[in-house]
Amino acid sequence: MKIALFGGTFDPVHQGHLAVARAAADKFDLGRVYFVPADSPPHKQKRPLTDFQHRFAMLALATAADPRFVLSLLDAPAGHPNYSIQTVRKLKSTLKKTDKLYFLIGMDAFKDIGTWRQPVELLAECDFIVVSRPGFSLDDVLRVLPEPVRPSQTELRQLNLVKHSFQKHSIQKSDNHKGVRTLALPGVKIHLLPDVHERVSSTQIRAAAQRSVKQLSRYVPRLVAEYIKKERLYVSSGALIEKTEKLEKLEKSEKPAVSQGKVLSFHGARRQES
Ligand code: ATP
Repeated sequence: MKIALFGGTFDPVHQGHLAVARAAADKFDLGRVYFVPADSPPHKQKRPLTDFQHRFAMLALATAADPRFVLSLLDAPAGHPNYSIQTVRKLKSTLKKTDKLYFLIGMDAFKDIGTWRQPVELLAECDFIVVSRPGFSLDDVLRVLPEPVRPSQTELRQLNLVKHSFQKHSIQKSDNHKGVRTLALPGVKIHLLPDVHERVSSTQIRAAAQRSVKQLSRYVPRLVAEYIKKERLYVSSGALIEKTEKLEKLEKSEKPAVSQGKVLSFHGARRQES
């Protein structure tokens, strides 16, 4: 069976996460997408995360309807930071020889892969599926690779990757993957999934948690919106400083503002595992 590991803080899970998982499952015929909420990822220690059990409960509500989506406790609280390299190895140790594992990740997170714990080893553990996110370009995937596996500037230029597009000869197109572009380098195989255009972020949901269930339900599954209200999540968090105007902006806008970085989302350093 083809299986994807999809990690994150999911604070809370939103339509962007579900769109990523659905797109990957559809394109790669995944039998399982493991949603792996992180206890306290090293790269997101700037603000206190919502209790693990709440994030886990919301994920359970959000994923219940799709038989391919399953929850995992692999990164549940353990009293020490969890690194992706360990999580992948733990999951692999439970799989059958015939199973194939993919690491599923948005481009905003992948761009920091070079700062993660043992990134070269992690990339060698399994194929990656890197998914589009408004404000981040999939054309950067090779440039952000850790130095030992990154093509040189000359090679990148030769591949015509420094500018914008990929040259055909640098890309293996696989019919099996329904036209998904694949980049294969020694020790790294990355599939690019450009189909996700959801602008929502968890930051934005936290900032708008005082909105009605109906309004929140545009960005999170309705049951998750109801859970947020019932448990009064995010109401007293620093996120409220960000206020509802961010949600209003999103509602007004029609097209992704690709030049703005991660739209409506305040991020400090992302995915810094080391
Ligand atoms: P926050 O706003 O708190 O930083 P987030 O919305 O980025 O959260 P995470 O839980 O940090 O959500 O993301 C988990 C994974 O999902 C990451 O790989 C991230 O790139 C991906 N992801 C999240 N939202 C989107 C989106 N709208 N489009 C594509 N990928 C996304």
